[in-house]
Amino acid sequence: MSDFLPTGIQLTYLVAASLFILGLKKLGSPATARNGNIVAAVGMLLAIVATMLDQHVLNYEMILLGLAIGSGIGAIVAYKVQMTEMPQMVGLLNGLGGAASALVAVAEFWRLLDSSQPIPLDVNISILLDVLIGGITFTGSFLAFAKLQGLISGSPITFPFQQPFNLLLLGAYIVGSAYLIITPDSLPIFLGVVGVSLVLGVMFVIPIGGGDMPVVISLLNSLSGVAAAAAGFVVMNNMLIIAGALVGASGLILTEIMCKAMNRSLFSVLFSAFGTGSSSGAAASGGATEQSVRSIDPEEGAMMLGYARSVVIVPGYGMAVAQAQHSVRELSDQLEKMGVDVKYAIHPVAGRMPGHMNVLLAEANVPYTQLYDMDDINPQFDQADVALVIGANDVVNPAARSDTSSPIYGMPILEVDRAKQTIVIKRGMSTGFAGVDNELFYKDKTTMLFGSAKDMVAKLVSEVKQL
Ligand code: NDP
Repeated sequence: MSDFLPTGIQLTYLVAASLFILGLKKLGSPATARNGNIVAAVGMLLAIVATMLDQHVLNYEMILLGLAIGSGIGAIVAYKVQMTEMPQMVGLLNGLGGAASALVAVAEFWRLLDSSQPIPLDVNISILLDVLIGGITFTGSFLAFAKLQGLISGSPITFPFQQPFNLLLLGAYIVGSAYLIITPDSLPIFLGVVGVSLVLGVMFVIPIGGGDMPVVISLLNSLSGVAAAAAGFVVMNNMLIIAGALVGASGLILTEIMCKAMNRSLFSVLFSAFGTGSSSGAAASGGATEQSVRSIDPEEGAMMLGYARSVVIVPGYGMAVAQAQHSVRELSDQLEKMGVDVKYAIHPVAGRMPGHMNVLLAEANVPYTQLYDMDDINPQFDQADVALVIGANDVVNPAARSDTSSPIYGMPILEVDRAKQTIVIKRGMSTGFAGVDNELFYKDKTTMLFGSAKDMVAKLVSEVKQL
């Protein structure tokens, strides 16, 4: 019986790990994502129950108290947070994950120090790595949260000799760690190493700003997984190692996808301070502002849509802010009833987080079969009678194709300017996230429908119904 419990726990961990992997696979497609979430959650429940049964768990009261407090705060935050604030919310959660992992290492170091047992080399190295990665994730994520939430300036902060200073900090960490590997029982040096790791997290994030912040959040998400895996090595827990590795790997893949969709390399995100100026929202690239735009009213817009054979809807950040997805669904239903073929074009970084548009449209029950990725829809714009752009800007800016001086040059875009007509719904002529003007708005084939996305789409629905 005494052997059975550990073996049973390891087997349960194996089942839980398999469910995590299956869940992740299902999360890869909108059609199976909900299901994937449930599968992974069941895996997590199994892992938690198995860990609670483990003999190493000594104090159930504390665990239940933590569970109650954590779940309470989590539930309130989940209800209150807006979808557009999701990147900073994820940042906060990453930070807490990093802190938890680092605390595991600190607690284990303390325990071993107290017990006067020699600290095995492998455990010692795991503790030092956990402290470094967990510490960086903790302070880096909280700083990223503060930047995105507007608590401090979102622009990159740079100062003279920043890189040499960072190298000095890294050197201090390495020297401190080497000392602890030779003399593991020095508490002041250990605390110094913890302190340096925390400062490194701050130094890692302060020179990054603007459009690169969500990429950094994704990278910190990956680091929080690596920190958890390191914590798994510290306490010899296979589940933590596997779950941490999965988070680490998936975070890294997401970071790579985001970099590709914004045409940025990870190196330039981390070291070239993109946010300066270009993401301030004020800058506009030359000339275009003097040109005029053609504005229409909802009645004219409804005529263009109602008499079209095919319409491609391009949602963006403005649709998310206005929460217009339900009205958009109503509009597309109405158009389809009238025999119009309706498709949705989804850019990988439309909105403020990966999958932002998919989540909103799924919430409004738009069928997945109507959603087209950028590579699939771009060749179809030529045949579209109307491209209806709702609160999107940067992701449809043709300057990304042609203007080598534009900060978004090279970013893949949805080629709406190839459609026969384009209607753009936005409130005014403000720039998007990258802070650059959009030549699409001034093209002959483009008409502007000025107003908030929700109002305008609702008006289009009622006008289309009267056709
Ligand atoms: P943009 O940020 O380029 O543009 C959004 C537009 O929506 C604005 O021009 C604004 O114009 C309009 N808008 C705002 N509120 C409303 C409203 N209530 N009704 C109607 N329109 C509104 O959005 P995109 O989705 O095109 O592009 C996303 C940007 O975010 C890209 O630059 C991308 O690189 C960046 N980004 C995205 C990430 C992601 O993971 N998705 C991560 C990091 C960055 P106006 O004020 O005139 O109405």
